[in-house]
Amino acid sequence: MGAPGSGKGTQIQMMLNEGYKQISTGDILRNEVNSGSDLGKHLKEIMDSGKLVSDDLVIKVIENIFNNLESKKGILLDGFPRTINQAKKLDELLKKHNINIDAVIEINTPDKIIIDRISGRFVCVNCGATYHKTAKKTVEKGICDLCKGTKFKTRADDTEKVVKNRLNTYHKEANSIIKYYKEKGLYKKVDGSSGIPENTDKQVRDILKRL
Ligand code: AMP
Repeated sequence: MGAPGSGKGTQIQMMLNEGYKQISTGDILRNEVNSGSDLGKHLKEIMDSGKLVSDDLVIKVIENIFNNLESKKGILLDGFPRTINQAKKLDELLKKHNINIDAVIEINTPDKIIIDRISGRFVCVNCGATYHKTAKKTVEKGICDLCKGTKFKTRADDTEKVVKNRLNTYHKEANSIIKYYKEKGLYKKVDGSSGIPENTDKQVRDILKRL
């Protein structure tokens, strides 16, 4: 768990080469938007405003993935569950597939740091490399370090106004989800405020080692 911009995506990237399977509902929904389908058009409106997509739709997406699941090492759920209803549905699904949750890790980062972080993000259109207007500039102005591409874009939901909406949405739902997993003894918190991926990674690894 973690608010948008807390460093969840980066942390997951750092764990992927160890054989975990990532399930990121945000990425799956964005793929649908990019496909240009009618459903995608409907989703784009909701996502661009920073609101949540309906539980029914997200649960259907997750159900589909669980039915076709192959991962020996384990699954990293990213961006799901986002509501208490989704958390309860997830429990049903896990039971059906005989899977246990090992830990629910929240990357905790103050909102102000997140707003500065996200509202400066931009990505290379060609290869998807991510940059930041102050914290991670391209080495040569206007040229992607990785592929030398010269076109960049920002995510439509990365503007300050939308980021604030997304943070409000996160906090509104997160408190009850955290309570739910605290009661099950699964909730763990790490500090993501440094913005240094290795710092967060070390804390996550320490938790995994102790499981
Ligand atoms: P993310 O990349 O995880 O920040 O997700 C981007 C957007 O996709 C969110 O602002 C929501 O509109 C939507 N979304 C992603 N995951 C969920 C979810 N589990 N439930 C509802 N909406 C979601």
